[in-house]
Amino acid sequence: MGAFVPTGYDFAEAPPALNWIGGREVAAISGETLAVTNPRYGRDIGRVALSGAADIAAAVASAKAAYPGWRATPYKERAQVLYRLKGLMERDLDLLSWTIVHENGKTFGESKASVMKGIECLELGASLPNMSAGGQIDVSRGVNCRVDYEPLGVCAGIAPFNFPVMVPMWMLPQVLVAGNTFVMKPSEQVPYGALHLARLFTEAGLPDGVLNLVHGTRDAVESVVDHPDVQAVGFVGSTRVARLLYARGAALGKRMLCLGGAKNHLVVVPDADVELTAANVVASAFGCAGQRCMAASTLMAVGQVDHIIEAMARNARDMVLGESMGAIINRGSVERITRYIDEAEAAGAKVLVDGRGATVPGAEGGCWVGPTILDGVSADMPAACDEIFGPVLSIVRVDTLDEAIAVENANPYGNAASIYTTSGAVADYATKRFEAGMVAVNIGVPVPREPFSFGGWNHSKFGHGDLTGVDGFRFWTRPKKVTTKWALQTDQNWMS
Ligand code: NAD
Repeated sequence: MGAFVPTGYDFAEAPPALNWIGGREVAAISGETLAVTNPRYGRDIGRVALSGAADIAAAVASAKAAYPGWRATPYKERAQVLYRLKGLMERDLDLLSWTIVHENGKTFGESKASVMKGIECLELGASLPNMSAGGQIDVSRGVNCRVDYEPLGVCAGIAPFNFPVMVPMWMLPQVLVAGNTFVMKPSEQVPYGALHLARLFTEAGLPDGVLNLVHGTRDAVESVVDHPDVQAVGFVGSTRVARLLYARGAALGKRMLCLGGAKNHLVVVPDADVELTAANVVASAFGCAGQRCMAASTLMAVGQVDHIIEAMARNARDMVLGESMGAIINRGSVERITRYIDEAEAAGAKVLVDGRGATVPGAEGGCWVGPTILDGVSADMPAACDEIFGPVLSIVRVDTLDEAIAVENANPYGNAASIYTTSGAVADYATKRFEAGMVAVNIGVPVPREPFSFGGWNHSKFGHGDLTGVDGFRFWTRPKKVTTKWALQTDQNWMS
């Protein structure tokens, strides 16, 4: 099959997205496919393979066959593949970005930023051979102990729709440089970016079978998790599915790390810088059309901050749908988001900025919701508590910082939280008390840059440790402790 090579926003059709097994494209054994839609136009661009247990078995067999050779390849040679891939991803930066625009609906700028973040993950992975030199020490007379971080074998990853290239790149560099082989299941809604990435890995010199891609939905995912030869699974997606898969894999004795959904709270106090706060909160809430697990979702307005809220509303109204803000992934999501806004309004919230019914000239059939700000939302309304996963910012008014923190703490999720203030003492007080894995001061999307690792708390993550950064490397490896004695004294035991 040919590749998909979009070069702009104009609607374009794509060839079928097939599985990638053993370094080549193969159709699902059943021959079944599913439509892939361009959210900007609400029109189908192509079809994706719908895999079942037999396809997963073929992908796992391919990964298993490739494992001994890849494991025996020296670390530094494995890292060379990543260095070459970096050059290829940079060469194809625009192509990868436009591919994401078409399958996901982001703006070109957002797509490009997400691919560049994927490249940053690659840089970390390529440096791991230097960082992974395990420790060693003479623990006794003539006795040395060292720790080696060994691969697990065949591992697997499952990705969501919102970052088609970046989320696979949260896993692939660490997992592969460590010597594992892999089966990746991208979101069936966005198969093309990941497929191009798989092709680039092969072009970079990754041996056939080390990375395999299978498309599909629930059946494919469950077959991956259940397969006896899959040792560990990384999942990124909604909390409902993260919880289910974590339990399913853990019951089989597998290593599971499942990142889930989010409801991120941003707290604004009266001394916050007006322009920085307004611009930053709006970028966090409406960037990627709010379809980010790090998006601002509930704004805790402490005391008199009307001047900042007015500036936010102005910034939000200035956004141009289709240019500075992209589309919503599908019609079901548009309906869900609109329902949350309708229900909050009916329950007494004021719609300060209303994105319902918005559309884009020339793309009227697309999946659109404009930036929406709801004021006077009470802390118990669904708009303040649930993950909406769309461009909706719910403002909850409180009198004190402690009340704001209490609302944030009470939410079951725990991905991100941020405080906007010019006071170091206030910032310190809040960041120490937030119940979230990634917290910030005056930053709306506090994604830890590499080498710091990405992962939330509470219902935003099931499993131990984080998925990216050095923590990710630990997840995809197992420490082997090697104790050796070459001085063959007979008058001392090994603990002398
Ligand atoms: P999703 O949970 O619907 O799907 C994620 C993956 O799971 C997809 O590959 C899908 O095919 C598969 N899947 C869906 N239903 C399944 C089921 N019942 N059994 C097994 N597999 C199933 O998530 P999505 O809609 O693609 O992505 C949006 C969600 O992902 C949001 O909740 C967002 O917060 C979350 N997310 C979290 C992070 C994070 O780091 N915590 C990052 C990105 C996205």
